[in-house]
Amino acid sequence: MENMKEEKQIILTGDRPTGKLHLGHYVGSLRNRVAMQESGKYIPYIFISDLQALTDNARDSEKIRRNLIEVALDYLAVGIDPKKSVIFVQSQIPELAELTMYYMNLVTLSRLQRNPTIKTEIKERGFEKSVPVGFLTYPISQAADITAFDARYVPGGEDQEPILEQDREIVRTFNSIYGETLVEPYLITPDKDICKRLPGTDGKNKMSKSLNNCIYLSDEPEVIQKKVMSMFTDPNHLRVEDPGDVENNAVFKYLDALCTDEHFQKYLPEYKNLEELKAHYRRGGLGDVKIKRFLNNVIQETLAPIRERRHYYEQHIDYVYDMLEEGSKVARQKAAEVLKRVRRAIGVEYFEDMELRHSIYTNIDDSMDFDESHKRRGR
Ligand code: ATP
Ligand code: MG
Repeated sequence: MENMKEEKQIILTGDRPTGKLHLGHYVGSLRNRVAMQESGKYIPYIFISDLQALTDNARDSEKIRRNLIEVALDYLAVGIDPKKSVIFVQSQIPELAELTMYYMNLVTLSRLQRNPTIKTEIKERGFEKSVPVGFLTYPISQAADITAFDARYVPGGEDQEPILEQDREIVRTFNSIYGETLVEPYLITPDKDICKRLPGTDGKNKMSKSLNNCIYLSDEPEVIQKKVMSMFTDPNHLRVEDPGDVENNAVFKYLDALCTDEHFQKYLPEYKNLEELKAHYRRGGLGDVKIKRFLNNVIQETLAPIRERRHYYEQHIDYVYDMLEEGSKVARQKAAEVLKRVRRAIGVEYFEDMELRHSIYTNIDDSMDFDESHKRRGR
């Protein structure tokens, strides 16, 4: 019976505790994670990457400390369930640091500097003149995070692809030097292109905690409405009757990511679906206020149950910290098993390796009372 059971694949994903989670996280990763968790086909490991957050916030560790709970609350709010997923904190797994040390030897400096995501992030953070070593090397520590749990899949946004590619290189190099030991990880991005990289409310950049252009999952209704009503649309769509552009228009991008035909039935029944709405906007005669009001309704409906669940857990903070502590213990056990395998593969499990012990020198004084003779010699 046992081997007839389909083996569950392990997934691993995480978020930096640099702020509360936003709509970009929701469509880019959280939605997929919850679906994978609920399918029962996977064992999800979900972690708060405080060590990674410190790589560009070392002088503001208080920010990371404070945001740990915010991310944990957002997890529970979107439906990540500690009974079905292992939820843990990166810094509580010291095994990850040791794995990182081994992997560092397999990556060159120039390869790190070529990583497109790191290049963009270095610019965004103003690190061009002096980049912290820990920041530049975070793809290596990410390889440790993923391989420590034998994770096959990583649900995330498209900014993760160059990092995952580098992680796979590390795995392949490791396996080719030390023998098949590590699992190669693959990114799972959302089906819809727009969800792979949701823009910010500024319409230009990716929605990102560091860029102050977010709609947070925990925003109150009035805040959401204000943010939506002041969103960037098509700058050439000045009068209602002007033809409008839906391609470079953040409001339509959000609708692409979030709205369903049911939303139209409920809030805008004169259109059947998004295609009809887009066609009207392109033709002209459809005002921005109308599409923004519709988007506001869609976002409000999506976020209301999430916010409600969050408020519940905000009243049960001890439970949330205990859950993180418990999850970290479980995760640590798994990481320790994998680390053992890695140490064996490299050959640094010296004290269990009887073959090594006797391969160079043989014991000639096996029959002597070793302790006695050792003491005598020491005198
Ligand atoms: P920071 O600004 O601190 O880097 P962030 O907003 O970029 O924060 P991360 O914690 O770096 O968030 O990302 C966590 C996960 O969410 C990653 O898988 C990332 O790809 C995904 N993600 C983040 N922002 C977006 C977005 N705008 N669209 C789609 N996915 C996103
Ligand atoms: Mg980021």
